[in-house]
Amino acid sequence: MLSDSQLNSLKWSIRKPHVNSTCIGCSACTAISGDVFEFDDDGLSCVKPLSTYENRDVDDSIAACPVNAISWQEADETGKYLHGITEHVDV
Ligand code: SF4
Repeated sequence: MLSDSQLNSLKWSIRKPHVNSTCIGCSACTAISGDVFEFDDDGLSCVKPLSTYENRDVDDSIAACPVNAISWQEADETGKYLHGITEHVDV
């Protein structure tokens, strides 16, 4: 029988982009990957809920972000970030 930690390691996860609190709302990521990033009511970029973020120019958005606010993080099958990470926290 598998332990809880072993079961957790078998759960399906995806790579999901994450935007931290340093976003200045410059629009670079929304222009490059408009199917991935959008602005919230505070003018910060946030990540749209998608089943996959591969082949959507996310790496180009990461490279273009002037404040290095975007990174790849792990998310579960519902799109929730793993490891206690939440939207717009600094990781
Ligand atoms: S490129 Fe960076 S600073 Fe500009 S809107 Fe996107 S996350 Fe924010």
